[in-house]
Amino acid sequence: MTRAIGLPRARPEIAALPVYSRAAGAATVRWRASSNEATIAPPPAVVEAIARAGEHGHLYPTLSADNLVAALAERLSVPPHAVLSGAGSLALLQQALTAYTGPGTEVVHAWRSYEAYPILIGIAGATAVPVPLDTQHRHDVDAMIAALTPRTRAVLVCNPNNPTGTELTETEVRRLLDGVPSHVLVILDEAYHEFAEEQVDGVKLLREYPNVVVLRTFSKAYGLAGLRVGYAIADPAVAAPLHAAAPPFGLSSVAEAAACAALADSAHTGRVLESVRWSRVHLRAGLSASGIETPASGGNFVWIPVGAGTTRLAAACVAHGVSVRAFSGEGVRVTVGERDAENAVLAAVDHVIAHRPEG
Ligand SMILES: *Cc1c(COP(=O)(O)O)cnc(C)c1O
Repeated sequence: MTRAIGLPRARPEIAALPVYSRAAGAATVRWRASSNEATIAPPPAVVEAIARAGEHGHLYPTLSADNLVAALAERLSVPPHAVLSGAGSLALLQQALTAYTGPGTEVVHAWRSYEAYPILIGIAGATAVPVPLDTQHRHDVDAMIAALTPRTRAVLVCNPNNPTGTELTETEVRRLLDGVPSHVLVILDEAYHEFAEEQVDGVKLLREYPNVVVLRTFSKAYGLAGLRVGYAIADPAVAAPLHAAAPPFGLSSVAEAAACAALADSAHTGRVLESVRWSRVHLRAGLSASGIETPASGGNFVWIPVGAGTTRLAAACVAHGVSVRAFSGEGVRVTVGERDAENAVLAAVDHVIAHRPEG
């Protein structure tokens, strides 16, 4: 056993960080609807690409995942030095925060939003400035602009927003961008872009607003959450410091090969998108029939804002075989794409309603 005295001490900001939590029951339930993973396993072409890359596992990958970057640049019609890839879009977010923020600076973001934001902002040593969502569970653009100070170095926009699924229109995103000084970085986290209804395209916007960084991922629509691949698109001048802030060899050769194969398999991605779109409609209609209205979702999940009923609903879902993500006192986020799981959630809702405490 070690003695507590005399051990190295972490920076106090690190000790104070909130902890990234996982849903109760996720390991044991029949359906995992708590982490916004794809409900369909990778297709054979991706599994084969992974195996082939494994044969060369004794060799280092390229420094910056050159094959994947080239494929993405072509797909997005941008120069290769406008694209960076990394071990999940969270790694790229960390690089952006490391490069552009730090102690004494502020990062404005909506709240409730993605729970990793306050953690990563804290790791960078910056101060998070959370701005409450409006009554429709959407980013409050005017309040976010009003929260800017001379210390603001970055604004973080989650569009569609996790966990509420709400989207900004292109007009609203432009209004935000017009209200942010050009020396402040605007990070558009588009993890759910492929599922979105509004289809606001950050890559198009960054041609007009070079202070924008767009983050996207292979974890959701491409179904590779376990492989850890994300990418960023930015003006090359803005992207260069992100490169500088990256650990060398950030993406494994296996992950790169998987992502290249997934990018090429549009039929599989189409199946994922179709199942999500269908399930979103099905679950929201079922909830509405039980008297629960939900915001329209542009993600692979639905937000059920049950407030004080959150803990009971989440427990009922687990009892019906589905793990969900509960935000105590606010609501439950359910990943969609699997009809049987959505039916189990609807059964859990009906159970909770039937057993509602008196008064
Ligand atoms: C899931 C998610 C990500 C993805 O992170 P990866 O590191 O790419 O797996 C990023 N942002 C948001 C808002 C998410 O929900």
